[in-house]
Amino acid sequence: MRRSYDVIIIGGGVQGLSLAYNLALRKAGKIAVFDKSYIGSGASGRNGEMIRSAFGSEEWIRFFDTSLRLWETLSEELDFNVMFTRCGYLVLAATNDELVTFRKLTRLQKALGLDTRLLSQEEVIEWIPAINPKMAAGGILQPGGGFARHDAVVWAYEKAARRMNVRIKPHTEVKDIVIDNNSVTGVMTTAGKISAGMVVNAAGGHARQIAAMAGIDLPTDVYRLEMLATEPLKPFLPWAVSSPHTLSYMHQTTRGEFVGGAEIEHLKPAKNLRSTGAAIQDMAGKFVRLFPGLGKVNLMRQWAGIVDMAPDASPILGPATGLESFVLDCGWVYGFVGAPAAGSLLADYIVSGEIPRNIRPFHINRFKEGKPIRDLSLVVPTKSTP
Ligand SMILES: Cc1cc2nc3c(=O)[nH]c(=O)nc-3n(C[C@H](O)[C@H](O)[C@H](O)COP(=O)(O)OP(=O)(O)OC[C@H]3O[C@@H](n4cnc5c(N)ncnc54)[C@H](O)[C@@H]3O)c2cc1C
Repeated sequence: MRRSYDVIIIGGGVQGLSLAYNLALRKAGKIAVFDKSYIGSGASGRNGEMIRSAFGSEEWIRFFDTSLRLWETLSEELDFNVMFTRCGYLVLAATNDELVTFRKLTRLQKALGLDTRLLSQEEVIEWIPAINPKMAAGGILQPGGGFARHDAVVWAYEKAARRMNVRIKPHTEVKDIVIDNNSVTGVMTTAGKISAGMVVNAAGGHARQIAAMAGIDLPTDVYRLEMLATEPLKPFLPWAVSSPHTLSYMHQTTRGEFVGGAEIEHLKPAKNLRSTGAAIQDMAGKFVRLFPGLGKVNLMRQWAGIVDMAPDASPILGPATGLESFVLDCGWVYGFVGAPAAGSLLADYIVSGEIPRNIRPFHINRFKEGKPIRDLSLVVPTKSTP
């Protein structure tokens, strides 16, 4: 272990690893990633794997479409198959009112250069005969979206970063942030004090705790999200699908498993990773409402992960306010799909000192300035969305 680095990243999830890789690519000096557990142990190894850029606000669309373009060549770039399946992504409307909103969203998406189309109820049913017609009024299809294998993405970034001499240290917990004269100068870890020119908070569900060590109060709350996987089934779901109406999302793997998650309405903040009976009941009920045939299917697995969510459910990206050399890469609820762009754009910022246009709106100051970013197409726990 060196005692000094140019950049230390706290958190070996997909965000921290993407940033480390992108910094190494830009020859940003000596870089280290510390994780208190194994690499990918956080939400990055537990998520729904869904990938899209067809969101409902200009800020989200611009940022996530940058990411989607990077996903297209990610396996090649990292020399590791991340199993990005570009099968298409459908955001399902359950009511005609939702479809009216979706029509407006497609106009915005097209104006920003996205390839999306509004599907009628008949088209959705033709493509997914197993769907309950009462839950499908139509939807927005993004043919370039889909899903990727989350573990593979973590391993791909980790290997690529290591090849470029990034030091990745699992089981090394950051216990405190060292500050000198209003500037972060290092971290205290379970392996001792390590100096750094810059420290990045990419600690996922623990980002608020890390920020507090630096005297910064992140306006976030931690939520436990849960998912399930069924036994393998014959292919019936051609696209990745999210249903804002039921706060659920799902896809079918190449092995045939139906994999999906749902957010419980009025979810309370929770940190532990224990799966719950309430979540399995909620998910099963919603999935059977959407696809009645799933009622007869066996459940194979259930698991949970945590995310640290801001009041507007948008990520918090860029330099901290009032403290030098401390960068925020947190508040992620869609941090899997966002990782390629966040890593690339934050690395650009760290190397140049200029905040790239597509991450500027996500700066922490937006809360003080009264400029939250509300996106109408998200599937997020309802409690925290204003
Ligand atoms: C059930 C579920 C479904 C999801 N579905 C999707 C989806 O379909 N699409 C999508 O885009 N996103 C999805 N997400 C969100 C996505 O997984 C996260 O936004 C993303 O993984 C965040 O990555 P991260 O690297 O910031 O955090 P994490 O992967 O949580 O990594 C943070 C790391 O920091 C480490 N850490 C914490 N504290 C310390 C410390 N003191 N010292 C050292 N290390 C520390 C942790 O051990 C952890 O490994 C989902 C999340 C969940 C839980």
